[in-house]
Amino acid sequence: MNQFSKQLLTVGEMASGVSLTVPVYRLKGNGQGPSVYIQANIHGAEVQGNAVIYQLLELLQQETLSGDITLVPYANPIASNHKNGEYTLGRFDPITGVNWNRMYHFDDSFITDFSLRHANSNIADIKSEFKQLMLDSIADKLDHNNYGLTTGCRIAYQLQQMAHQADIVLDLHTGPISSKHLYCPEILKNSASYFNVPHTILIPNSFDGAMDEATFCPWWSLTDAYHKLGRALNFEKESLTVELGSQELIDLDEALIDAQSILCYLQHKNVLLGNKYQPQNISRYACYLKDYKVYYSPMGGMVDYLAEFGKPLAAGEPLARILRMDNYGDGNALHYLTLDEDSLPILHFASASVHQGTQLYKLFTNYFTL
Ligand SMILES: [Zn+2]
Repeated sequence: MNQFSKQLLTVGEMASGVSLTVPVYRLKGNGQGPSVYIQANIHGAEVQGNAVIYQLLELLQQETLSGDITLVPYANPIASNHKNGEYTLGRFDPITGVNWNRMYHFDDSFITDFSLRHANSNIADIKSEFKQLMLDSIADKLDHNNYGLTTGCRIAYQLQQMAHQADIVLDLHTGPISSKHLYCPEILKNSASYFNVPHTILIPNSFDGAMDEATFCPWWSLTDAYHKLGRALNFEKESLTVELGSQELIDLDEALIDAQSILCYLQHKNVLLGNKYQPQNISRYACYLKDYKVYYSPMGGMVDYLAEFGKPLAAGEPLARILRMDNYGDGNALHYLTLDEDSLPILHFASASVHQGTQLYKLFTNYFTL
């Protein structure tokens, strides 16, 4: 049995003085392998990651760990509790309107300087110095900020402090109504094949405030900086976002399958010993972020979603049909929506009633097999 610890991390305070806390579970490895940080539920309605963390904790009790693993369910206590009627909201901070997964910190201004200062250092020193620099920069934001921080940034930076300690970071999300898919940096394409996830979006080295980017962008940029100096270095830092299906849904059986899929990847990275977990022989499709298209509804109405996730949709085949009862009798009550290129539907909007311009579907175009 691995050494196990539990901590309640205080990430903020509510108006009434009540502390906002996040549970942090730590499993200790033998120190030989890479360390891992996994969080779930930064977006309030995306609850399935909590069930996956439960199953991971159950499965990991039987494993011999070579790397430390930190698991953080309910990573955002405000978003998790942000209900409106029957629904959980929690994609955006209700006060500022900012997406909860766009508040992490990365400043690339020091990277070139750092690489020049450490041009001839060995890789272990570079890794530890650079990691310390990132941790210092977060600590500075948290502790020495005269003008304060938004509620969301305070939560995000504290999560990021834990993420920066690790070599491997997984951020567990879901889509609205969605297939399983991964966001994977282009340079880590090979890693996507160890998850039993049929769809992967390959993302470039550009920072937009998300947890996965906040982790891989610094290291990727550092790799590029050394490349310019004629050194090819691999810092072995990985970070992916795992989209576990649909929001507002807990499915413990499916969570077990996803936990096994994550362990398959972690075993490949030598975080756990043995060879119990093998990747399934499934088709894995990928596309570049620029080819991951949003289809906005051309009209308002009631949607009958027709296209199935993960099933190739030929140009001209119907994606959805829109019911417009206001037109019945003197116009078109039914409208079929089609695309003029081949695509692979990945997710769709959660409600059947949409305004003109609602994000109806997200689809792969120009996709290929991994
Ligand atoms: Zn999300």
